[in-house]
Amino acid sequence: MSRVVVLGSLNMDLVVSLSHLPRSGETVIGDRLQRFAGGKGANQAVAAARLGAEVAMVGRVGKDSFGDELLSNLEADGVAIDGVERDPNEPTGAALILVEEGGENMIAVARGASRVVGDAEVARATSDLKESDVLLLQLEIPLAMVVAAARRAKAAGARVILNAAPAAALEASLLSQLEVLVVNELEVEPLLGRPAADPEEAEEAARMAVQQGARSAVVTLGAAGAVLVQGESIHRMKAQRVEAVDTTGAGDAFVGALAAALAAGAALVEAAELAGAAGAAAVTKPGAQASLPRPEDLRRLFGMTWPVQLKARQ
Ligand code: ADP
Repeated sequence: MSRVVVLGSLNMDLVVSLSHLPRSGETVIGDRLQRFAGGKGANQAVAAARLGAEVAMVGRVGKDSFGDELLSNLEADGVAIDGVERDPNEPTGAALILVEEGGENMIAVARGASRVVGDAEVARATSDLKESDVLLLQLEIPLAMVVAAARRAKAAGARVILNAAPAAALEASLLSQLEVLVVNELEVEPLLGRPAADPEEAEEAARMAVQQGARSAVVTLGAAGAVLVQGESIHRMKAQRVEAVDTTGAGDAFVGALAAALAAGAALVEAAELAGAAGAAAVTKPGAQASLPRPEDLRRLFGMTWPVQLKARQ
């Protein structure tokens, strides 16, 4: 079976709920600090593993208790963690998240060990990739390492998926290494010069990414679904109708599921449909990693069978 290798971030998310968000200089008193395993890399690794993919995580955490917790958390979901280095000098990455009643939030990220992900991680992530394996990348590690890993993986014949989040301008030399670029409606801003206001603009952004070298591009649009551009063809995908409880984790569920489905041999359009269902399932539950679906969730919610019946690869 093909593997999914994720080179990316592992963060501890520290969340405090408040009556209102503080203004500059203000102290607002809340109740309990909550801790959740996070980081886009780790979240997407878990998303793919829950859907049955063989997943290896590559990255860096500190030699601290947050690092211990994040690693045992990944292991509990069946993600291989021997590619995660314990950094003796840098602390584990953390996100400080303030949430106001009604859901508005403020987030500060201390990258910690993810800031110094370097050549050693690139080598670990790419040295034994086979053709048909999937390398999954995001932008919470240094961009130069994303570029290096994409190039090496492509040269090895593996398929590279980049979730360009948080948003950044991408060189054509990076886009041309990608099997799939995945961004949401806000993250198209570096491509379009503005967020996508509607599916037409999302399609325009996806088309631009393909013109600049990506083999295909997906723009996700929350409850409005997603747009996939693959070469000359365009697919508009509707989202499943669900009762949204908490939309955090939808993007990570989508991207992880897309990687899992491609590794399982699904064609891209089918993989994107399954990814959309995984994203929709994630919004029906609170939390980020906690809401990432398993096959039984997709069956219960949408009558969908996973693993996919394998179709010929495109
Ligand atoms: P992000 O979390 O990066 O903002 P999106 O909100 O675009 O990502 O969600 C990714 C995918 O998850 C969407 O393309 C869609 O398929 C699914 N999804 C997200 N929100 C909803 C929703 N409210 N209802 C149904 N599906 C959703």
